[in-house]
Amino acid sequence: LVRLERVTKRFGDQTVLDGLDFSVSAGKHVTLIGPSGSGKTTILRLLMTLTKPDEGTITVDGDQLFPASDKQVREIRKKIGMVFQHFNLFPNMTVLRNITEAPVTVLGMSRDEADARARELLDLVGLADKCDSRPSQLSGGQQQRVAIARALAMRPQVLLLDEVTSALDPELVAGVLDVLRDIARSTDITLLCVTHEMGFARDISDQVLMFDSGRVVESGPPERIFGEPREERTREFLSAVL
Ligand code: ATP
Repeated sequence: LVRLERVTKRFGDQTVLDGLDFSVSAGKHVTLIGPSGSGKTTILRLLMTLTKPDEGTITVDGDQLFPASDKQVREIRKKIGMVFQHFNLFPNMTVLRNITEAPVTVLGMSRDEADARARELLDLVGLADKCDSRPSQLSGGQQQRVAIARALAMRPQVLLLDEVTSALDPELVAGVLDVLRDIARSTDITLLCVTHEMGFARDISDQVLMFDSGRVVESGPPERIFGEPREERTREFLSAVL
C-alpha cells in the first residue's frame, strides 16, 4: 500500500534519509524505532506531502506522490490520516465539530452522517460524553484521543502516528495507547507508527524497522527485533531505551 524506493532527503548538507527502501502492505502495522534525529518523522512528513524527497519514488496505493498534480495529491492525501505529537485540534470548535469538519468540507458528507460517525468514533476512543466540550477543557490524553477520532473520521486507508504520546504526562500515556491497541485489533487500517514506547511497538506491530542515520539498520517481527536483535546498533539502542 505504501512504498518508498531509494528515497533520499537532504537538509542543506545533511543527508537525513539515505536511499531508503521499504514498504507497508495493506492492513499491516509497521513501527519505526531508532534514535532521535534518525529521520523517522521525515518519512511521515514525506508521506503527508509536507516535504519533498530529493531522490527516489514514493507510492501510495499504486499512485506516485512526487511528481503529482495538486488534484492527484488531494486524492492521495484522502487515503492517509496523521496524528501528531501535539494534537493540533481546532481550539475554537467543539470536540464534535473538530471531528466532523473535514468529512463535511473535504468529503462532502452530510452534517447528520458526519455527526453520527463522529459519535461512534468518540465512543470508540472513550469520549462519548465530551461532544460539546472545547479542546481546552480536556486533558492532553483526551485531546489526543479526539485527534485520533478526527483522523479516523476521514476513513483513511493508512494512519500515520508520530510519537503520539511523547507530549503527554506519563499518567495519560496508557489511555491513549490502549485506544490505539484497540484500533489496531478491531479495524483493518494500515498503521505506520513512530514511537518511543517499546512495549506498545511490541504489542501492535507486525514488523518493526530499526532506523539509524537515515537507513533501516534491521527489520523483522517484534519478537525478533526485541528478543534477538542481530545488529550491534539495535542492541545499543534497545539497551539505552528499555
Ligand atoms: P525524533 O525522534 O527526535 O523526532 P526523528 O528520527 O523523527 O527524530 P527527524 O525529525 O526525521 O528525526 O529529523 C531528522 C534530521 O533532520 C534531524 O537531524 C533534524 O534536525 C533534521 N531536520 C528535520 N526537519 C528539518 C528541516 N525542516 N530543516 C532542516 N533540518 C531538518
